[in-house]
Amino acid sequence: AAPFPSDIEIAEAAEITPITTLAQERLGLPADALIPYGHTKAKVDLAHIRSLADQPEGTLILVTAISPTPAGEGKTTTSVGLADALSRIGKKSMVALREPSMGPVFGIKGGAAGGGYAQVVPMTDINLNFTGDFASIAAANNLLSALIDNHIHHGNALGIDPRTITWKRVVDLNDRALRDIVVSLGGVANGFPREDGFDIVVASEVMAIFCLATSLADLKERLGNIVIGYTRDKKPVTARDLKAHGAMTVILRDALAPNLVQTLEHTPAMIHGGPFANIAHGCNSVMATRTALKLADYVVTEAGFGADLGAEKFIDIKCRTSGLRPSAVVVVATIRALKYHGGVALADLKTEDVDALTRGMENLRKHLRNVKDVYGLPPVVAINRFPTDTDAEIAALIELVRAEGARAYEATHFSNGGAGAEALAHGVLEAIEAGEGEMQFVYADELSLAEKAEAIATKVYGAAGVTFDSKAAKRLAQIEADGYSGLPVCMAKTQSSFSTDATRRGAPTGHTVNIREVRLAAGAGFVVMVTGDIMTMPGLPKVPASDHIDIDENGNIVGLS
Ligand code: ADP
Ligand code: MG
Repeated sequence: AAPFPSDIEIAEAAEITPITTLAQERLGLPADALIPYGHTKAKVDLAHIRSLADQPEGTLILVTAISPTPAGEGKTTTSVGLADALSRIGKKSMVALREPSMGPVFGIKGGAAGGGYAQVVPMTDINLNFTGDFASIAAANNLLSALIDNHIHHGNALGIDPRTITWKRVVDLNDRALRDIVVSLGGVANGFPREDGFDIVVASEVMAIFCLATSLADLKERLGNIVIGYTRDKKPVTARDLKAHGAMTVILRDALAPNLVQTLEHTPAMIHGGPFANIAHGCNSVMATRTALKLADYVVTEAGFGADLGAEKFIDIKCRTSGLRPSAVVVVATIRALKYHGGVALADLKTEDVDALTRGMENLRKHLRNVKDVYGLPPVVAINRFPTDTDAEIAALIELVRAEGARAYEATHFSNGGAGAEALAHGVLEAIEAGEGEMQFVYADELSLAEKAEAIATKVYGAAGVTFDSKAAKRLAQIEADGYSGLPVCMAKTQSSFSTDATRRGAPTGHTVNIREVRLAAGAGFVVMVTGDIMTMPGLPKVPASDHIDIDENGNIVGLS
């Protein structure tokens, strides 16, 4: 048999419908509702989006997963496959996803536009600069940095204590050399030297704000609320104090309009915004999800990492602030990853092992119970089939999930496109129509920030409780005293385990979640609780993906995966 084509080979062979035609035919969008970026990408005009305010909204389906493993699970691929399957069975559907960052594209992970026959296109454009949103976000972020140093240079009327500045500069690349730097070297004309650093764009609070904003006015309000540091008498200094928020919003005015593209099977796709899933909430913009719900009857959207992190933040942060409510949750599982959770070494995952799969089921089981009992939503398991999976393993997993009272379907969209996810699509519709449950938050707004962290740790992670390093406890007290205790909490924890120890697979219980650091994201509107070492500027591996990425004289790109 011919070898299975690579993602980029499949994507480059695709016939892409001109975006204005697709928008007209599939979504009834007139040409003047679009701002085309070439022939295959467009932004949906904000004025048109405002005109949809009174339209009814479609049904939202959240895609999440078991605890991620090095074997890979396939949330994006499954989101695309499910949306295509819904289209195939006659539903007006869309998919809403995050924009890929160029850091991972040139680093380890590669592209993030799905895989196999379940991809969004144009794949190379989406992975490389796309419509320029990340450049705008970086510019808005860095304008604020420039204004901070400029303010101090010109006399520091606000009395900013430079040692307390937490606002960093950003760039959309993996570059460990920029993690910790000193700025303003070179003498009087260059300002006052201070320690600074770069984060990757997806870690910028501007990215999180951009993804939670519901309008230009809301965007500006949130940008104004950013706390960049403190005065010498320990009062928070905001971007509004520096008069930065208006100009920052101006930079972002075009970017805020969501991007419309399509899947390989011509299902309309919104790809917009892409915050980290650790120090931020890890899902595409509210603008994109909302707009998709106005335009389609079913919208499939992905949350980052596993259901303990991405889905929890989707609910407690994105849904809480926006009013969005999913009707069903698809939990992506793979045979390989469950065997890994059952203790099998990475190298042995290709060998049939129903016993290991059964042991690894404890990870999926805990996620399913969380979705049902803690989030209040019906879970549907998508078994994303890999070539090495055996029929016996698939049958065993379907039985194990049934025993939990949940639905499970084998899905082969990676190999077969939307046709491979039709059973899954029918199952999701069944769960939605059965109306099993109503979304609930993990904690109430009124709880203290520490109680909120405790609720997430005990209910979702199966932990015994939460402890705080003394530095973190002090910072928490300051944040509460400054009036931010009503905000939701954003947990920064390893994605690989329910515990804070990445090596503990399966479903550990009774562990302690220690908070090492607390960060205020007052503009985004959450308080980050950091449990481990969180990398906000990744490095490149010894052999980065960029080694294999190249272009020929005709502009054909190779090596993107
Ligand atoms: P996630 O969104 O969970 O990070 P992705 O959907 O991006 O996962 O998939 C991760 C990687 O695994 C991608 O390179 C994708 O092409 C690959 N992949 C996903 N599903 C399959 C499958 N069924 N068979 C082979 N490779 C797959
Ligand atoms: Mg993904």
